[in-house]
Amino acid sequence: MNAPLPVEVLKQHLIDPEICIRCNTCEETCPVDAITHDSNNYVVDPDICNGCMACVPPCPTGSIDNWRLMLRNEAYSVQDQFGWEELPKEKALPETAAVDAGGDAAAADAAAVDTAAVGTAAADAPGVMTGAASAAAPAFSLPGASVPPWSAAHPYVNLYTHKAPMTATVVGNYRVTGADTESDIHHIVLDFGELPFPVLEGQSIGILPPGVDAQGRPHHARQYSLASPRDGERAGYNNLSLTVKRVTEDHGGAAAHGVCSNYLCDLAKNDTVQVIGPFGHTFLMPNHPRANLIMICTGTGSAPMRAMTERYRRRIDTGDNGRLMLFFGARTERELPYFGPLMKLPRDFIDINLALSREPGQPKRYVQDLIRERAGQVRELLLDRNTCIYVCGLKGMEVGVLDALREVTMQSGQDWSILHDVLRREGRLHFETY
Ligand code: NAP
Repeated sequence: MNAPLPVEVLKQHLIDPEICIRCNTCEETCPVDAITHDSNNYVVDPDICNGCMACVPPCPTGSIDNWRLMLRNEAYSVQDQFGWEELPKEKALPETAAVDAGGDAAAADAAAVDTAAVGTAAADAPGVMTGAASAAAPAFSLPGASVPPWSAAHPYVNLYTHKAPMTATVVGNYRVTGADTESDIHHIVLDFGELPFPVLEGQSIGILPPGVDAQGRPHHARQYSLASPRDGERAGYNNLSLTVKRVTEDHGGAAAHGVCSNYLCDLAKNDTVQVIGPFGHTFLMPNHPRANLIMICTGTGSAPMRAMTERYRRRIDTGDNGRLMLFFGARTERELPYFGPLMKLPRDFIDINLALSREPGQPKRYVQDLIRERAGQVRELLLDRNTCIYVCGLKGMEVGVLDALREVTMQSGQDWSILHDVLRREGRLHFETY
């Protein structure tokens, strides 16, 4: 008669602000728009999130994979979460809630599942990703895969965090675009000395720029893809390289000072840098012999393509390489990073297609135009199950590239929607666009 009223228990989805690198992947992925952000944090709206897990596998850091058992009427609001610098400690559910949950079948089920799931699968445990993030079923709300290719090597992630970053030393910093152009793009080499920083091509790292933001808080980390292969910028050395464009204007063309890009481009040899990571467990290259790569990039999105190409170049004599096909977009030849070294690669090693959009006297061309022009070869590779496709660079290219791949596929009577699903399910189509 005096039995307590059932109290609803919620498995609240939270993002760890100490690990999140603010890459926007979760917000883009969420099929119900439950994720939003302000200048401080990415947060999950408890009134909208349905726990579908679509956002979990694509998150490069695992910061997305945090859950708390909460009384629904005490759930952390979006406003609460915007103010966090770290996740709040877990609270024990009141005795009555446990009793009530036991009396309510749905809540009891949720509580039982949640007890195992509360905490982080990936982010709490530095090391090789084995948790929920990699085990969850692929969700096709993103244009690309949320799983790596079957033969990818296992990546290490989150070995170094905001609270415990690694100090790297700058051993090289030079410009890789024409000095007379607006595109000031630098190749920056960081050395880790004796400390471990194992990486794979396609992974990224975070740089913590010194100083504070307008609110007096330390700057958030900025994410950069590796431009060097797993065995180092110089083979056998404990170093890696980044491709960084000095940001002097925002996407709308208004003057803007990129905090981290300017910091990095101005570094001198022997300066030290705070690094976190590595990040990323899906945008990884296949590891099996005769795997083909189609690489599609614009500007500094060429960083992971340089890493993968160099991985293949270093084993050119093994006979294990599949075919490499590169579509690379830049404004002009002189603004295309690594133009000189790229042009020295043997033509029978890599099929290079340059799309220049502002080369005087030439028609404007984008990577998707060249994909159409090379339809025959692209189709042949697309239909080969040993082929993986990587797209990196400007966000705007995503739609154009997908349209071009669809056209190329349909020209041979194939159904793109079926092939697209296969490519995603098999971890063979990957996007990293900003
Ligand atoms: P950018 O110089 O502005 O553009 C490169 C080329 O892409 C230009 O030819 C540009 O043509 C063309 N382009 C513009 N819109 C396009 C579209 N819708 N489809 C196809 N091509 C298009 O490039 P950027 O400044 O280097 O930017 C590269 C992007 O890569 C940035 O968003 C960056 O955040 C991202 N990224 C960087 C890294 C890294 O590690 N540094 C890693 C991953 C991604 P127009 O002449 O029309 O402008």
